[in-house]
Amino acid sequence: MNSVNDIKKMAVIGAGIMGHGIAEIYALNGYTVSLMDINNELLEKGIKQIKSEFRTFIDNEIISENESEKALNRISTTVSLKDAVDSCNYVTEAVTENLELKRKIFNELEKNVGEDAILASNTSGLMISNIAEGLKRPERVIGTHFSVPPHIVPGVEIIRGKKTSDYTFNIAYELIKKIGKIPFVVKKEIDGFILNRLQFALAREALNLIEKGIATPEDIDICLNSVLGFRWVTFGPFRQFDSAGIDSWNYVGKYLLPSLSNSKDIPKALADKFTKGEFGMKTGKGFFDYSNLDIEEVRAERDKGFLKTLKLLKSSRE
Ligand code: NAD
Repeated sequence: MNSVNDIKKMAVIGAGIMGHGIAEIYALNGYTVSLMDINNELLEKGIKQIKSEFRTFIDNEIISENESEKALNRISTTVSLKDAVDSCNYVTEAVTENLELKRKIFNELEKNVGEDAILASNTSGLMISNIAEGLKRPERVIGTHFSVPPHIVPGVEIIRGKKTSDYTFNIAYELIKKIGKIPFVVKKEIDGFILNRLQFALAREALNLIEKGIATPEDIDICLNSVLGFRWVTFGPFRQFDSAGIDSWNYVGKYLLPSLSNSKDIPKALADKFTKGEFGMKTGKGFFDYSNLDIEEVRAERDKGFLKTLKLLKSSRE
């Protein structure tokens, strides 16, 4: 491969929450994608979700019926990793977040892909160097971390492992731009990268406030939607430091920082839900109750809201 334009066929390994959406966005951008998972049931579920998400795109005038049909025809499914990567030169791994499993998959990928293939992982925060450990060609492994829902959220974190080559980095970076996403770069790998370090720092305090009975999950969501999230769509925290005044941040930080949670454990509010098997939408209950709702409809409503924000973000960057 000389450039991003030489990517012809792709494979996505894992058809779950992330994998199906990553396959979908690449297919919408004209790539032929082979989607692989461990059984046909999971693959059918993934394709069903892609169809439903295309329907939301059509209803919101993002794509036409014809574009949806063409993109669907570009996606094939298989339970064989060897078949999935046959004549592929770009692979995205989106299997369960487990280092041993990912290592095993990358090992198999290395044995089955061609010389010029790039191997990207969608890991949420595992070190790319650890995933690539033991491979003959670790320089072609990179992290491209999409966020939920990957077919809509524009930002994609690009993570260089210690041995990732400039060639691999440049192609992955250009690819993310080419599909209309917004890349941001983790220059030196660290657990959780940028996104999950920030997300978990905020989540720890949000869960701390619930545990202490200071606020409800509803009101914390409203605070983030209507103030921080509202601002962050167009104006990040560093611009916010400048706009609010760095002197004020110093005055407030001095008395506030010592009282923030610095717990090293999974917050109790989250651990309790986990023990009860209340995993959220996927089990019908999490912090909110979905048991009487059609989850497909809940997701479509969520996506409708995200698409409005996406339009806003795009217009603000023009
Ligand atoms: P998921 O559980 O929805 O999907 C994982 C899929 O991998 C499953 O369908 C599973 O059957 C498949 N799988 C497991 N072993 C496999 C194998 N040997 N070969 C092929 N497929 C196999 O998980 P997800 O949420 O889609 O997460 C996938 C990756 O993306 C993880 O690394 C995760 O940390 C990361 N990620 C998740 C989110 C999120 O919010 N869910 C966001 C960003 C990144």
